[in-house]
Amino acid sequence: MKFTPERYSIADERMKPFIDPIEIWDYIYNTRPSKKSVREIIAKSLAKQRLNLEEVACLVNADSPDLIEEIKEGAKMLKRSIYGNRIVLFAPLYIGNKCTNDCLYCGFRISNKEAIRRTLTDEELVKEIESLEDNGQKRLILVYGEHPEYSPEYIAHTVKIAYSVKKGNGEIRRVNINAAPLDVEGFRIVKAAGIGTYQIFQETYNPEAYKTYHQQGRKADYSYRLTALDRAQEAGIDDVGIGALFGLYDWRFEVLALVRHANHLEACYNVGPHTISFPRVKDASGQNLKTGHFVSDEDFTKLVAILRLAVPYTGMILTAREPASLRDEIIQFGISQIDGGTNIEIGSYAEKSLVEKNLNRGQFQINDDRPLNEIIDELLDQDMIPSFCTACYRLGRTGEHFMEFSVPGFIKRYCTPNAILTLAEYLIDYAPQHTADKGWRVINSAIEKMEDEQMKASIHEKIRLLKSGKRDLYY
Ligand code: SAM
Ligand code: SF4
Repeated sequence: MKFTPERYSIADERMKPFIDPIEIWDYIYNTRPSKKSVREIIAKSLAKQRLNLEEVACLVNADSPDLIEEIKEGAKMLKRSIYGNRIVLFAPLYIGNKCTNDCLYCGFRISNKEAIRRTLTDEELVKEIESLEDNGQKRLILVYGEHPEYSPEYIAHTVKIAYSVKKGNGEIRRVNINAAPLDVEGFRIVKAAGIGTYQIFQETYNPEAYKTYHQQGRKADYSYRLTALDRAQEAGIDDVGIGALFGLYDWRFEVLALVRHANHLEACYNVGPHTISFPRVKDASGQNLKTGHFVSDEDFTKLVAILRLAVPYTGMILTAREPASLRDEIIQFGISQIDGGTNIEIGSYAEKSLVEKNLNRGQFQINDDRPLNEIIDELLDQDMIPSFCTACYRLGRTGEHFMEFSVPGFIKRYCTPNAILTLAEYLIDYAPQHTADKGWRVINSAIEKMEDEQMKASIHEKIRLLKSGKRDLYY
């Protein structure tokens, strides 16, 4: 489908930009945290109430080591008491790196002459999916540059292929996408293909900073990108992911803006974002960045904890852009999803040698290249339950994180049992013996801790069915 300006039409008031930089800076400049106020705000979040911008500003301004520690401790408590010890795993799959934009930070930018451009053919895509399935993956996010070749119809086509490939017991049960903003009709087309989450990052919410990084192509239009999720909602996609690329502008501003964006979606459509992402800028071939806004590990950890407290019922994604040691640490502050076994060199799941060849087709450098099983093994060592659950999406239970957070017993009834069953499938089909031994120990101890005897018996029965060859069992 061809892009034309009239397909861009702003349908109603809700699609007008809703970020006011002066308002955000006012909160940051005029809110002074005290021990008392920070403690009250953490308590409010732990009492399951969402925070307003003034309260978030108070947390971002808290800079004494003891207050930062209390914020991190609060986020940890929230994560432990509400979400428990599950962590959902997924893999990104880059479909093509052609791009007509020139984002200064990105290896796919049009002016990067070092990049070798490539779009997977259908056959190559099938091979990639088969390799991912051979590793045990069940949830993917497909990623595309912004290019006329990657039309809504093409995106829908790739999503359908991803769902159709089955190898052995392998299948992909949820396909999310990260793609350029579409118009309402385009969103309808990708929705009809059965996407899970549509994810898009605003990169920076500050319009002036945005202009300096995005001078060319359709992405130069800040408002069109900012209102993408409103058009998605208009097209019936209520499962959306937001994010900011940290390192382009002041992190405090971005944190407040992300919360503002979440509040906007909730106020207008009664459903907040499914997930928030907070990628930090990494080195990329052809990158041209002089920002002065790089975020230190300390500030990064703090901002993740603040976001956890600010939007307690939103899923939080931490990707392999970050090194393993930092990921292991930050997970405890409220992360609900991580990618595992990640390769972003195009075509490199099937053709492993591409990673070593470093052909510059990747968008940026990743810093956690552990294979999926190694990550699972290490999560099990920390007594966490790696999960490939896709039940809510497939049963039409939308707003799953909100339900996890607010419906008493939801996690006990659905999330933990489904995490256990999907882990059990992985252990049976893909895990080496040492991981399987650990995994069954973690599963047995999780079942042991359950109070509902009927549920315990039901899970044992489903595990028996899995061992006898049945697949895809869930609540
Ligand atoms: N082309 C689409 C777009 O721009 O929306 C798809 C997104 S891009 C392939 C995925 C995301 O990667 C971008 O939104 C950006 O936040 C992030 N990204 C780009 N360059 C990066 C870098 N050098 N380091 C870390 N993340 C980066
Ligand atoms: Fe293209 Fe997206 Fe990279 Fe920008 S971030 S150059 S739009 S792939």
